[in-house]
Amino acid sequence: MSMDIDVIVREVGLRDGLQIHPTFMPTERKLEWIRAEAAAGVSEIEVTSYVPAKLIPQFIDAEEVTVRAMEIPGLTVSALIPNLRGAERGLDLGVHKMNFVMSVSKTHNLKNVRREREESVADFKRIVERIRELPEGKRPKICAGLATALGCSYEGRVPVDDVVRYAVQLAEAGADEIAVPDTVGYADPAQVRKVFTAVIAALGKLPVAAHFHDTRGTGLANVTAALECGVRRFDASLAGIGGCPFAPGATGNIVMDDLCFMLDSMGLRTGVDLEKLIAIRALVRKTLPDIEMHGAIARAGLPVHYKTAEQRVAA
Ligand code: ZN
Repeated sequence: MSMDIDVIVREVGLRDGLQIHPTFMPTERKLEWIRAEAAAGVSEIEVTSYVPAKLIPQFIDAEEVTVRAMEIPGLTVSALIPNLRGAERGLDLGVHKMNFVMSVSKTHNLKNVRREREESVADFKRIVERIRELPEGKRPKICAGLATALGCSYEGRVPVDDVVRYAVQLAEAGADEIAVPDTVGYADPAQVRKVFTAVIAALGKLPVAAHFHDTRGTGLANVTAALECGVRRFDASLAGIGGCPFAPGATGNIVMDDLCFMLDSMGLRTGVDLEKLIAIRALVRKTLPDIEMHGAIARAGLPVHYKTAEQRVAA
C-alpha cells in the first residue's frame, strides 16, 4: 500500500484490550489478528506488553509474538514497557518501538508502578541511555505515555500544569513521541482541547498521540477535539475490545472500525481498508467467543454509495 496517509491509526487491542481479558488468546490467533490488520492497512500495532508473565499471563508469549510480528513487511511493531527491565526485553528482541508509561497522578503512579513520578522520569532517562548505547540504525523508537493525563480514578481531574511538566520532562529526556491517554475514560472534548493545546504548545514539533477509551461514550467526540488541536496519531482497538479495571463492565478503547470510518468520512486518509478491517472481528470472535465487541459501523454497515477518502481524492 503506497497511498498517502493523513492520520495514523494504531491498534492497541492486543495489549490494552487483552490485558484484562481472563482467557489466554493462543499465540497463533494473535498473529493471525496482527497479520490481518496489517493486511487491512494498519501500519502500527502494539502487539504485547513486557510485564512479568506472573502479573499478566496473557503476555507469556510476548517474545514470540514480537519476533513473528516483526516478520510482517512494513508493519511497525510496538510493545508496552513498564520499566527498565521491560525495555531490556524489547532491546534484546530488537522491537521497532517501545511505549513507556508513567502516571501524571502521584497516587496512580505509586499504586501502578510503586514509584514517585520523579523516579519514573529517572527510569525513563535510563531507558533512553540504554537505547543510545546502540548504533543509530538499531535504536527502537521510544514513546512516553502520560497515564491519567485526562483523569485519575484516585485523584479525579489532574492539573494541566502537571501534564505539561511531565510531558516536557519526558520530551527533554529523549522521547520520540508523547502519548496523552485517557486511561480511565473520564475525558470530554472541552478538556481534551485544553490539555492537548497546552501540551502541543509546550512540545513544539514533537509528535503527540492520543489514546482514548470510550468508557463513558465520549471517545470519538474526543478524537475530533484532538484533531482540531492538530493530533494525527490515534490508538484504538478493533471492536473496542477491552475494558477498564476501575469500572467493571465498561467498554474498552475507542473502536478502531468506527474511528477509521469517521476519519475516512471526514476526508482524512488512514490507509485502512474498512471492509477488510470489519471482517477481522469475526476472526477474533471465533477465538474468544466470550469477548465483548462494540462498534456502530459493523452493525450498520457503510452508507449506500459510500466513497472512501482515497476514492474521493482520486476522483
Ligand atoms: Zn488504555
